[in-house]
Amino acid sequence: MNARERLRDAKRIVVKVGTSTLAHETGKLDLHRIDHLIRELADLRNQGKEMVLVSSGAIAAGLGKLGLAKKPDSIPEKQAIAAIGQGVLMHIYEKFFAEYGQVMGQVLLTKENSVRHNQYIHSRDSLLAQLAMGAIPVINENDAVAVDEIKIGDNDNLSAMVATLVDADALIILSDIEGLYTANPSTHPEAELISEIPEITPEIERIAGGAGSKLGTGGMMTKIQAAQVAMSAGVTMVIASGARDGIIRDVLAGKTVGTVFPARESHLRVRKSWLAFGKRLAGELVVDDGCAAAMREKGSSLLAAGVVACDGDFHEGNTVRVLNLQQQEIARGIVNYNAETLQKLLGHKTEEFSRLIGGEGPEEVIHRDNMVLMV
Ligand code: ADP
Repeated sequence: MNARERLRDAKRIVVKVGTSTLAHETGKLDLHRIDHLIRELADLRNQGKEMVLVSSGAIAAGLGKLGLAKKPDSIPEKQAIAAIGQGVLMHIYEKFFAEYGQVMGQVLLTKENSVRHNQYIHSRDSLLAQLAMGAIPVINENDAVAVDEIKIGDNDNLSAMVATLVDADALIILSDIEGLYTANPSTHPEAELISEIPEITPEIERIAGGAGSKLGTGGMMTKIQAAQVAMSAGVTMVIASGARDGIIRDVLAGKTVGTVFPARESHLRVRKSWLAFGKRLAGELVVDDGCAAAMREKGSSLLAAGVVACDGDFHEGNTVRVLNLQQQEIARGIVNYNAETLQKLLGHKTEEFSRLIGGEGPEEVIHRDNMVLMV
């Protein structure tokens, strides 16, 4: 199956939309476009797909609200405008999503959220919980407080981080241009659209060089950086034009639009491989045959009812090995309970948890999103 065909099966999709798509040349928000974008996301959600939106545009919205023509130079002033604009933008998104019967959640991230392990788990769990509730997370960088050291810096890279964080099947970056061309079309009218880029070569980096429009901050270079992260994390990325109505649907129908960067299939997802091979193993859980079969055959989460023993002094958030009754390692994953609490839950059903531990706890001992099968 080629990358375009695979997009038809994409279930969890991150869509990134840039300022150049959301705003008019005047710098004010393009409400027609925003309405179309939200309607498309809502309709895909209705089809049962899980959608995540990464949106720029806070500064444009803030400038519009304050009646300013251009960005101020000082950082505190830029941050103030981002703070004002973020509210304006979310208000508009909320209004459109509500009109189309959808629920959204606002998430503001910084680089710390992905680099630090415990924060990574929390951001990921929060996003996955929103998806499980049927909501559409709307994400932006926390521009109002982020300083350079903790900044991702552009929403192309942020969207790749988010796609990796939620194990998305596809990342669609909408821009003011159809995709990556053989040269910048604004200076080279003869440039041609590249339909598929299987690998980021120095040549691709060269043709993507240079900043983009006056409204956007990324240009093509940051989109190529995002592609690199996405591809190696097992996420297929597409750059396409946000100016075309129905573009997300076309991409997900496998049509030949935009530029596709196929996921590297041979790679374990970056985060999952890190989970499997990069982390200290803090303990072991032994599971019964029924549980082992459910994990292997159905990709089920690990529930306490199937755990027969646990060993090691592990804490919530640690990585542990999962063994079958023959002591063969069948999975690794991030455990939701510490060893002492888990001991009390072994073999028990979720309904019994509150009686056993005197409070509520997660249903899963290891959630399937935080688990790698080793066999
Ligand atoms: P966004 O705000 O959507 O993230 P940008 O305006 O930052 O988008 O980047 C897109 C712009 O990058 C295009 O409009 C184009 O002017 C410029 N660009 C530079 N090189 C290329 C190229 N090789 N192919 C396509 N666009 C290019």
